[in-house]
Amino acid sequence: MQIPASVMRLTRRVFTDLAIWMTGLGLVMGIVFPFFVAGMGVEPEYVLTPAFFGACMAAGFIVGGANIVLARMVVGRRLRLLAGGMRHVEGMVREAARSGDMGQCSPETCFLEVDSEDEIGESGRAFNVLVEALALSLRTNASVKSFTEMLASQLELDPLANQALEQLLRHSGAEAGAILVASEGYMKVIASHGIRAADSLVESDHIRRALSALQRQSLSMPEGIALDGVVTDFRPREVLVDPLCYKRVPLGAVILASAAGFTDEARSRLELLREGLSLALNNALAHDRLQRLAAVDPLTASYNRRFGLARLREEFGRAVRSSTPLGVVMFDIDHFKSVNDTYGHLVGDRVLIRVAKVARSAMREGDILVRYGGEEFVAVLPGASREDIRLTCERLRRAVEETSIAEHDQVIRVTVSLGGISFPEFDVQGEEELIRRADEALYSAKESGRNRVVVA
Ligand code: GH3
Ligand code: MG
Ligand code: MG
Repeated sequence: MQIPASVMRLTRRVFTDLAIWMTGLGLVMGIVFPFFVAGMGVEPEYVLTPAFFGACMAAGFIVGGANIVLARMVVGRRLRLLAGGMRHVEGMVREAARSGDMGQCSPETCFLEVDSEDEIGESGRAFNVLVEALALSLRTNASVKSFTEMLASQLELDPLANQALEQLLRHSGAEAGAILVASEGYMKVIASHGIRAADSLVESDHIRRALSALQRQSLSMPEGIALDGVVTDFRPREVLVDPLCYKRVPLGAVILASAAGFTDEARSRLELLREGLSLALNNALAHDRLQRLAAVDPLTASYNRRFGLARLREEFGRAVRSSTPLGVVMFDIDHFKSVNDTYGHLVGDRVLIRVAKVARSAMREGDILVRYGGEEFVAVLPGASREDIRLTCERLRRAVEETSIAEHDQVIRVTVSLGGISFPEFDVQGEEELIRRADEALYSAKESGRNRVVVA
C-alpha cells in the first residue's frame, strides 16, 4: 500500500515541521491581533504601533515555541516508547526465527503494550497483529522444516509412517490418528496412535470417499454420534481424513482425530505437511517394492538365495545372542529332471511354484522359505527344536506327496527329500555349517531312497 506524501511536509523531521507551522502561526497571530484589537474599538494609535506589533508577534512566537516543547514531551515520548518496543520485539522475532523456537516469542514478550485510544495505540495494535502473523508463519516454517528433515532421513516405510504420524499429531494438536497406504490393491494401516482396532479403518466409507474424490473429508461429530471405523479412546469433536496422492494417483490417507477440533492454523499447516508426506511415502513405497524385487525369486515368490542367506545370518546371530533354537531344513524335489523331460520345462515351472506354495502352508508365520537353487529350497525356522524340525519336515513331506498337480488331462505327483537340523541341539560354528549339515542330511535322505526325512 502506498502511503500518500503529506502536503504539510516542509522538512524531513515531523517536529521541525510542527515547530515551523506553530511559530509561523504565532507570528501571523501576532500580526493579526493588533487589527483585531483595533476592530474591537481600542484607539488605533495605541495598538497599531510597532511596539504593540512587536509584543504580539513575540507572544505568538513564545506560545508556538511552548507548544512544540509540549508536543515533543507528550507525543515524542510516546513515539519513542513505541519505536523502542518495536526494536525490542524485532530482536525477539529475529532470534526466534534463527533458533526456530517460537516459544521465546509469546504474546507476553513479543507484543507491545497498548494503553492509548488514539493513533499511537492504533499503531501498537497494528504492530501486534503483524507480530502475530509473523509468529504464525515462523511456527509453520519451523514445523515444515522439522517434518521435511524427518522425511528426508527415512526411506523405510514403517519407521517413516510412525515418525510422520507422531509429528502430524504434534503439529495439528490431534490426540489420535493413523496413516494408511494402498499397496498391491489393498489398503493397510502402517501407523496408528490412540485408535482402537485401527485395522478396521480400511473399511471406512469416509476414507474411501476421501480417496476417490482426492479431497479432505472433515467430520464434525455432535454428541452421541459415533463414526464408523474410527473408534478412539476419547470422544473426538472432529476427524480429518486427508488423502495422500502422488501425481493424482492415490497412495493412502492420513486420519487425525481431535477432542477439541482443529484450528485454521492446524488445517493449513496439515495441507503443507501432507504434500511432503505424499512425496516421501511414494519414495518409500517404491523403495519397498525394489527391496522386495531384489529379495524375492520371481518364479516361486520365496526369498532368493542372496537375501535368504543374509536373513539366515541374522537369525543365527539372534539365536546365539538370545540362546533360542534355530532350525534349518533343506529339501529338494525328487527326480525333478524327469518331470521336465516328460512334461516340459513350463510344466516343471508350475510344479516348482506349487511345491513352494505347499511348503509355505506347512510352515509357521515368521519362518522363511528360500529358493536355494534350481529345485532345492531352504526353510529357516526360528525357535524350532530338533523335534519341531522333525515334525515340520514330516508334515511338509506328506503335504507334497498328497498334492496332485493337474496338467491338461494328466495328473502329476512329486515327492521331496528333506534334511533338517536344529541349533544348538546340534552345535555348529556358524550359519554356513548349519546349511552344510542340513545338506548332508538331505543327501542321506536321497541316498536312503528319497521321499524321506533325515534330521541331523
Ligand atoms: P534328485 O532326486 O536326485 O534330486 O533328482 P533330480 O532329477 O531332481 O536332480 P537333478 O539335480 O539331476 O535335476 C534337477 C533338475 O531341476 C534339472 C533342472 O533342469 C531342473 N530345474 C532347475 N531349475 C529349474 C527351473 O527353474 N524350472 C524348471 N522347470 N526346472 C528346473
Ligand atoms: Mg532334485
Ligand atoms: Mg537338485
